Amino acid sequence: MSQEKITRTEQEWKSLLTPEQFRVTRGGGTEPPFSGKYYNHKEKGTYLCSNCGNGLFTSDSKYDSGSGWPSFFEPLSPESVSTREDRSHGMTRVEVLCARCDAHLGHLFPDGPPPTGMRYCINSVALDFKPDQPPRPGTN
Ligand code: FE
Repeated sequence: MSQEKITRTEQEWKSLLTPEQFRVTRGGGTEPPFSGKYYNHKEKGTYLCSNCGNGLFTSDSKYDSGSGWPSFFEPLSPESVSTREDRSHGMTRVEVLCARCDAHLGHLFPDGPPPTGMRYCINSVALDFKPDQPPRPGTN
């Protein structure tokens, strides 16, 4: 499944996003740990890109890493996110981006739990949460 890319100018993103969303997702920024709305969020559902609505992660792969950022051991699908090397701040890290709109989401570390051993360390401000539909009355 291929993603249709979304491209906008910096000015367009600036007009669409909150200042904190813009700083993090379009400027490669980081929200302070334990400050975001999803690091301790445990509802069942899907996490979408806050910039474009692309499905990125599900609650099934979310776990408590203790880092203060929402952490997932795998993306919704391999096509949901892209990665690239990030050599900023005197470190070599793997940056995680939305595969559809190239929003900066966070970083990927090889210290996650089974089954993947990976930790997608994601800024809450890069995410929107869509809860699973509750079962309709009378259907179960
Ligand atoms: Fe996106």
